[in-house]
Amino acid sequence: MTAVYPAEPWRIKMVEPLRTTTREERERALRAAGYNPCLLRAEDVYIDLFTDSGTNAMSDLQWSAMMRGDESYCGAASFYRMRDAVRAHCGYEHVIPVHQGRGAENLLSRMLIHPGHHVPGNMYFTTTRAHQELNGSTFHDVIVDAAHDPADESPFKGDVDLAKLEKLIGEVGADAIPYVCVGAPVNMAGGQPISMDCLARVRELTAHHGIMVVLDAARAVENAYFVQQREPGWSQRTIADILHAMCDLTDGATMSAKKDSFANIGGWLGLRDADQAEQARGLVVLYEGMHTYGGMAGRDMEAIAQGIVESVQEDGIRARVAQVAYLGQRLIDAGVPVVRPIGGHCVCLDAAAILAHIPQRLFPAQTLLAELYLHAGVRGVERGIVSAGRDPVTGENRAPALELVRLAIPRRVYTRAHLDAVADAVTDLHRERRAITHGLRFTYEPRHLRFFQARYEPVPAG
Ligand SMILES: *Cc1c(COP(=O)(O)O)cnc(C)c1O
Repeated sequence: MTAVYPAEPWRIKMVEPLRTTTREERERALRAAGYNPCLLRAEDVYIDLFTDSGTNAMSDLQWSAMMRGDESYCGAASFYRMRDAVRAHCGYEHVIPVHQGRGAENLLSRMLIHPGHHVPGNMYFTTTRAHQELNGSTFHDVIVDAAHDPADESPFKGDVDLAKLEKLIGEVGADAIPYVCVGAPVNMAGGQPISMDCLARVRELTAHHGIMVVLDAARAVENAYFVQQREPGWSQRTIADILHAMCDLTDGATMSAKKDSFANIGGWLGLRDADQAEQARGLVVLYEGMHTYGGMAGRDMEAIAQGIVESVQEDGIRARVAQVAYLGQRLIDAGVPVVRPIGGHCVCLDAAAILAHIPQRLFPAQTLLAELYLHAGVRGVERGIVSAGRDPVTGENRAPALELVRLAIPRRVYTRAHLDAVADAVTDLHRERRAITHGLRFTYEPRHLRFFQARYEPVPAG
């Protein structure tokens, strides 16, 4: 099957040169970076698929909105424009600005989590779980089993397993669960969506027990697109409508505006409860900035306000998801093991299958990531045992079922020819996979979010 590649609903007005490098140059750069592509200088990367976060191309309207950024310390007009855009599209009455998504996670975790608490979620996200654990709670993965199987083709692999959630509530008691954390879609599962039907059932169960539901809304628009395309009863609804309906089923949201909203930086915490919002405003001034800028410049809030409007445009979100699907389909056609179905923001290479001869303790995904950079100057990110980190209680490595290299596609940035170059490089590497006879081990292992700054050395896998 060849994938559809709809023509982009925009044209290019400004370009940024890319630098190509030789294999020798890349070998030198990677060694200096301790075999961790995160530590490379961006100018040594040809096609950068490390993340779709803050790396998106802004529109003419976003850039022009930035020129009217109100940089007043207190009460800037730009804050009210962003707040109103969030209210209109997501419906949260209270909007607390933060410098990026993890700022919202910090505020929320400090407000709601006490030592001994338990936080269920549909798979973890790195920064989200780190803040939950720093505040003394234990994270519980309540996602459906299908999410842990890269080959499972279910349309909503981001769904919460209601039986797992109900069991946890029975075991620890509703009082020990401050909120359920719902990712929509689920980043660590490869951008897999949650269905409206499931979210409604989560709402029903938690309402019965008096437990809050908090949405991780970073890519909620992409989730809305999958609902429109795949879920019975939703095909006639607009993306904007579905997004609002998703938010309606939650009590609040943490948002990284660096994803769906096309901004280079920024985020917000959305809440409905006035007392909670007051508490959040008390904390934001300590950790981020005044409650009308939260660590952002006025111009950043302008870019977000306009970005929210653009994010729900039907042709834009369709082109975005279709571009990602195109890369995925090219790899599937070439027989490369990837997480299926293809998610909204990334294609995930199944490193456990590709490098089956390298045991998980020698970091096959990190190894594949390093090899992909050496081969073609393409940068992705590890989403396997390194990202999973250590259990805060036992100190042991957590060994996730998914051992992935994530190739995230920035929005409105790369062309079809760039994606073809990536597909060709991955296909070559997959064909030559048996020539990779080493894994990696740490020479430096940071304490928090170790995948960002860790350093490695090669070690024979035999
Ligand atoms: C990016 C991201 C975050 C954190 O947001 P930052 O802006 O990077 O701090 C949280 N959750 C998900 C699902 C994300 O993708």
